[in-house]
Amino acid sequence: MHHFLSSRIRAMAESATLAMHSLTQSLQAQGHHICDLTLGEPNFITPYSIQEAAKQAIDTGKYFSYPPVAGYKDLREAIAKKLKHENKIVCEPNQIIVSTGAKQSLSNLFFCLLDPGDEIIVFTPYWVSYASNIELAGGKCVFIKGSKERHYEPTSEQLEQAITPKTKAIIYSSPSNPSGLVLSKESLLGIAEVLERHPHVLVIADEIYEYIHFTEGLTSIGSIDKIKDRVVTVNGFSKGYAMTGWRVGYLAAPLWLAKACEKIQGQLTSATCSIAQRAALAAFDVEPKIIQEMRDTYRRRRDLAIKYIQHMPGITCNIPLGAFYLFPDISHYFGHTDGKVVIKNADDFCMYLLQEAKVSTVSGTGFGNPHCIRISYATSDEVIREGMERIQKALQKLYPTTSA
Ligand code: PMP
Ligand code: GLU
Repeated sequence: MHHFLSSRIRAMAESATLAMHSLTQSLQAQGHHICDLTLGEPNFITPYSIQEAAKQAIDTGKYFSYPPVAGYKDLREAIAKKLKHENKIVCEPNQIIVSTGAKQSLSNLFFCLLDPGDEIIVFTPYWVSYASNIELAGGKCVFIKGSKERHYEPTSEQLEQAITPKTKAIIYSSPSNPSGLVLSKESLLGIAEVLERHPHVLVIADEIYEYIHFTEGLTSIGSIDKIKDRVVTVNGFSKGYAMTGWRVGYLAAPLWLAKACEKIQGQLTSATCSIAQRAALAAFDVEPKIIQEMRDTYRRRRDLAIKYIQHMPGITCNIPLGAFYLFPDISHYFGHTDGKVVIKNADDFCMYLLQEAKVSTVSGTGFGNPHCIRISYATSDEVIREGMERIQKALQKLYPTTSA
């Protein structure tokens, strides 16, 4: 029956994060005690005031019809206000398109921008869904690899060299999933300076982790004068407000592109859920201290997880400045064995951890770096501690095949 499927879907890779998470869940359902360090999903509950807003929206009985495709007017106005005050991005509410999560905003963009063969420059390592969704839309990814020494931050020279007449855009997430890199104002100015020479290139800035960073402050590239008219900012409520299940994201784009995204969304999905939109509107009134507390907890968990990693022989890891992942280089263990399996790559390493240590992580392969694995610390301290201790023990069983 496989032949019924389009070549498009057959060529598409499954989301590595979701695949590993669902494998974990099925093993848990079979009674295995797995420490799940796969998914980038806050383990907090959505703030109470947001929950209340959703209940009230239901009680009014006013929000049971299709909302406008681009989102409720008051929500788009509130997003435009937030972008202006917090990110120094100036845009009108009609430049904002609310969607079913940042993931949809990104897919909308790729379908609106890409003709076959058009290129998007992807800062690597990248979030798993960028590459597959760019390719699904007919585009070609041009990866620029940052080095471990620079915490995976690409240089201006690399960017300059990657641009061709077919380049439509560059894309990155900052704070980055998976590396935790936060692009500084200086780096962003460097990017802007390069792109000033290439007026045919847009920027897609994925700022979904903007509230989860451990630095003095963030700069949005959409606030930089030189290129602000060519920047699309993608964001959403999933991470900062612990609202992954509500499915509300948005983009702010030049009007011509916002209109195109509205058109495609009108054909593909329509607006996101009315009640979820009313809840998202209430997020703007959440006390900053609640967001701060979540951020402080992530910081503590990062420090906890990194302390373990730094004591693991052969493993190197940058200290992430944002998001909630570690992205350690585990390539030292390639060619190692426990006497039963030989670890040849990051996928094997993850499978070894799952089978031997009962800890699930995600291979770096899907993120464009096959030397690394991703460990999510968006989970409880207990799971982090237990998971890390199990990994330590599993590593002790490995030895090089040459001495086997
Ligand atoms: N961008 C990045 C970098 C992510 O890690 C995620 C994962 N949730 C998304 C976008 C998608 O977020 P959403 O839940 O809003 O679809
Ligand atoms: N973005 C999260 C992650 O990277 C959630 C999973 C997904 O949407 O792919 O784990």
